[in-house]
Amino acid sequence: MIRFENVTKRYRGTARPALNDVDFEVLRGEFVFLVGASGSGKSSCLRLILREETPSDGRVVVLGRDLRTLSNRKVPYFRRHVGAVFQDFRLLPGKTIFQNVAFTLQVTGSSRAFIQQAVPEVLALVGLDGKEKRLPHELSGGEQQRVAIARALVNRPQVLLADEPTGNLDPATSVDIMQLFSRIHAGGTTVVMATHEAGFVDQMQRRVIELKDGEMVRDERHGGYGDTSGIPSLAPEPERGAAAVAALTAVLELHREIVENETGEQPAASEVAAAVAEEIAQAEKAELLEEAIHEPEPAEQPIVKEPERPRTNPIPVVEAIEMDVSELGLADRLGLGEQRDEDEVGPTS
Ligand code: ADP
Ligand code: MG
Repeated sequence: MIRFENVTKRYRGTARPALNDVDFEVLRGEFVFLVGASGSGKSSCLRLILREETPSDGRVVVLGRDLRTLSNRKVPYFRRHVGAVFQDFRLLPGKTIFQNVAFTLQVTGSSRAFIQQAVPEVLALVGLDGKEKRLPHELSGGEQQRVAIARALVNRPQVLLADEPTGNLDPATSVDIMQLFSRIHAGGTTVVMATHEAGFVDQMQRRVIELKDGEMVRDERHGGYGDTSGIPSLAPEPERGAAAVAALTAVLELHREIVENETGEQPAASEVAAAVAEEIAQAEKAELLEEAIHEPEPAEQPIVKEPERPRTNPIPVVEAIEMDVSELGLADRLGLGEQRDEDEVGPTS
C-alpha cells in the first residue's frame, strides 16, 4: 500500500541527507508508528507519502502509484485517498466545525444532501456531535484535533497519515485521540503515525519503524519504544466504535456510487437516508452480536473512559455554507482539488 524503495532525500543546501536509503513497505490495514528523535526524518517520510516532496533517489509507491510518475495535475486527486492530520490541527479559523469538515466534500462536488448526511456522521464518529456550529477557537485542543481527524476521514481515505497528532495535547487528551486512531484503524483504515511519544508506542503494540539521523534502524512488528515505566496504560480498544465506522463507510460508499453513477441519475436524499439508516442498523446489530460472542474483558487500569455517546440520527438540517474560491489553495494542500475521472487511483496493493 505504501512502499519506500531505497529512498534518499536530500534537501537543498544541507550536508546530510534527511533520509538515507530508507526501505520499507506498509501493507493494507496496518497501523505503523514512525518513531525517532526530532530531526530523524519522520515528517520527511510523511511528506514523501503525500507527495509534498519527491525523493532524491529511490522510489515511493503509494496505492499502486509510483509518485515519481504522478503528474502534478493528478496530485490533488491522489491526496484524496490519503488523509492527513498534523500537530497544529490546521483548521480554518473563521469557519464552523461543520464548515471545516463540509469544505472537503464541497470542493469535491458532493451534493448538499450528502454533505448534510455525511458531516454529522463523521463528527459523531469522532465524538463531536452537537458541536457543529462552534468555531475552532471555541473548542479544546483535543476537540480541534477531532475536527481535523473528521476532515481527514470524510473522504474515506484508504490511508490516514498523522504527524505528531498528540504533540500539542495534554496526556489525558492524547490518550483519547490515540483511542480514536485505534478505532479508525479497527474500521479498516491503514494508519501511519509519526510520534516521539514513547508511551503510546509501547502500549499500543503496533508495528514500529524507527529512524535515526535519516536511517532506518528498526522495523518491528510489535515493537515498543523504550522504557514504559511510569506511563499509564491505555484502555483496550473500545469495540463500540465499530458500528460507527461501519456506518460511515456505508455512507461514503453510497456517496461514491451516486457520484460514479454513469447515468447521472441521483437517488433522492430520502432514499439515501433510508439506505444509510438500514446500514447503521445492520452495523449495530452485527456489533451487538459481536459483543455477545466476545464478552469484552475488563480493562486493567483504564485511565480514561470513553463517554457513552448517543448515536446520531440521520440528517440534521444545517444551513448552506458559503465558500471562497481563495480557499481552494488550501483545498489543494488538503488534497481536495478538482476531480477528473481519468485521475482515479485504483484500489491496488
Ligand atoms: P522529524 O519529523 O523526525 O523531526 P524531519 O523530516 O522534519 O524530521 O527532518 C529531517 C531532517 O531534514 C532534519 O535535519 C531537518 O532539519 C531537515 N529538513 C526537513 N525539512 C527540510 C527542508 N525543507 N529544507 C531543509 N532541510 C530540511
Ligand atoms: Mg516532524
